[in-house]
Amino acid sequence: MTAVYNFNAGPSALPKEVLQRAQAELTNFNGTGMSVMELSHRSKDYEAVHQNAIDLLKELYNIPDQYKVLFLQGGASLQFSMIPLQFLKEGTIGNYILTGSWSEKALKEAKIIGNTAIAASTKDQNYQSIPTANDFQFNKNDAYVHLTSNNTIFGTQWQDFPTIDHAPLIADMSSDILSRAVDIEKFGLIYAGAQKNLGPSGVTVAIIRDDLLEANVDQVPTVLRYKTHADSNSLYHTPPTFAIYMLNQVLTWVKEQGGVSEIEKRNKEKAKLIYDAIDESNGFYRGHAEKDARSLMNITFNLPTEDDNKKFLAKAKELGFVGLNGHRSVGGCRASTYNAVPLEACVALREYMDSYRTGHVR
Ligand code: PLP
Repeated sequence: MTAVYNFNAGPSALPKEVLQRAQAELTNFNGTGMSVMELSHRSKDYEAVHQNAIDLLKELYNIPDQYKVLFLQGGASLQFSMIPLQFLKEGTIGNYILTGSWSEKALKEAKIIGNTAIAASTKDQNYQSIPTANDFQFNKNDAYVHLTSNNTIFGTQWQDFPTIDHAPLIADMSSDILSRAVDIEKFGLIYAGAQKNLGPSGVTVAIIRDDLLEANVDQVPTVLRYKTHADSNSLYHTPPTFAIYMLNQVLTWVKEQGGVSEIEKRNKEKAKLIYDAIDESNGFYRGHAEKDARSLMNITFNLPTEDDNKKFLAKAKELGFVGLNGHRSVGGCRASTYNAVPLEACVALREYMDSYRTGHVR
């Protein structure tokens, strides 16, 4: 099998070292004679993995003591419903900042459950930008304000997060969690499906401030309450043990690389290579995102015509670049440069983009 450059948007690349370690202990975890998948979730061996993953995430992401790290199931998509179920009450509003398709989906679910509002939206500009604080429209009875930190499909990302005082700020960080340092205290709740920066799909991470755990508990089914999972250290029911084991491996890898500050530095370097290829192409490659809203995780661009996009993508595939097609809803090209994508892959893509543009590779 040939080596590939994996630019998939999610599930996406995992660090090679992580896959190799998982392979080495697949059938005999920690001398148990069994795979980690075969262990009871109540066993000491599994519980050590589980606790280590929680502790490592707290350490790497600088999560203050008054927050709980939870491992949930149902993907980020279930959070779209769990959030309004948990926090919306009669007379309160779930207020959403719309910056792309995933924020729209979060809003759609909240509308099923209660009252909602749109605090700001960049839909009119086809989600090329991120709103500024002057655009926000808040209400005094907002139960929360929700944003999507990185817009996987459009390739935009919040560069700084607003400080919001009147209600808890909730962020879907599915596609940029642990890619850069974040001031956790700005948020009441952060959630993310694992399958981009944290590990394989199957586990959803939530980071929730303690004072938010009690809201609406009597009205929400047990398994959909954050409190249920907080009270049982995410062992209320059978957790996705193998996904959490892989998450623990990925977090160990992040620590070995030098932690989030080093990962952030590399992510900037990686993304710059590709944005430079766009900016130095005299308009041959056209980035979708406005410059001050560019994502370090998902780089979206188009060639002059649809036919050019197709040819560029077909040739890229032949050369071993995987996952460069834009999302089916927006087309064009998208390079997802998550934490596990190595610098070499971005160097190779930059070279390919330059060669394709100058006609050396067609
Ligand atoms: N939110 C964002 C920003 C995403 O990128 C995705 C998936 O790509 C989702 C939510 C949906 O996540 P899941 O498939 O885990 O439900």
